[in-house]
Amino acid sequence: MNYRCKVCEKPIDVHDHVRGGLCRSAECRRRYAGRVAHEEYQEHRAALRRTAEEIRDRRIPPTPEPLPAAALPSNDRPVVPLPEERREAFAAYLRSLVLQVYAEPGDQHHPLRPALESEPLARAACALCRGHCCLKGGIHNAYLDATTIERVRAERPATDPEELVETYLAAIPPESFEEACVYQSATGCVLPEDLRATICGAFFCDGLAEFRVAAREAGATRGFGVAFRDGVPVREAILTPDGPHPPDE
Ligand code: SF4
Ligand code: SF4
Ligand SMILES: [Zn+2]
Repeated sequence: MNYRCKVCEKPIDVHDHVRGGLCRSAECRRRYAGRVAHEEYQEHRAALRRTAEEIRDRRIPPTPEPLPAAALPSNDRPVVPLPEERREAFAAYLRSLVLQVYAEPGDQHHPLRPALESEPLARAACALCRGHCCLKGGIHNAYLDATTIERVRAERPATDPEELVETYLAAIPPESFEEACVYQSATGCVLPEDLRATICGAFFCDGLAEFRVAAREAGATRGFGVAFRDGVPVREAILTPDGPHPPDE
């Protein structure tokens, strides 16, 4: 019997076959582990979508109009006053970034990409989730980087660097989600869209990406969102272009 490695398909002996069907190369073992992790993740996503669909079918009588289900993450942190040391650390990062970008003449290194307009249904999904992806904006300084500041500089040619820093600092709300992005208030992001990091308008988590595809394919104008924490459903809503609505309203 000829046995072959499941990854590179080179011949392997019977011992390697019974030990898992891989040759002895570290690369094949690494790639196989990645493949298994990917498959497990896809199964996990499919299970969350099924749960979201089951909740939808229990809560909503069948309608002729499609209502694709979205399995979304959830931000459940408390809203707290922004500690002064966090404000200062953010201000120091921002000032140094802005000065560094303005120190160079009209830079050619960074592509000028406009911030994307977000879609109403996607916004409703993000409102139900409450901005799980913005939590890491805390340690990543609102994801602001040289590319973003280059773009803002090009769009606001009359603004000088100090004014720009002040504009950003003035937009910080007094309270935000604990340890999250300084702009993530209880009502969502309060930073004007044209000042947000380019990635803020372009990022879709897996749950939102799946929902956008499902909504587009079904031609849906509404959806049903379920927010999950550690795989457990914690909130649900009908997603409409005006925002999320409780299913029993
Ligand atoms: S992109 Fe995903 S994680 Fe981010 S706010 Fe929207 S639903 Fe939540
Ligand atoms: S700037 Fe707004 S969209 Fe971007 S991470 Fe912060 S809260 Fe989220
Ligand atoms: Zn191999």
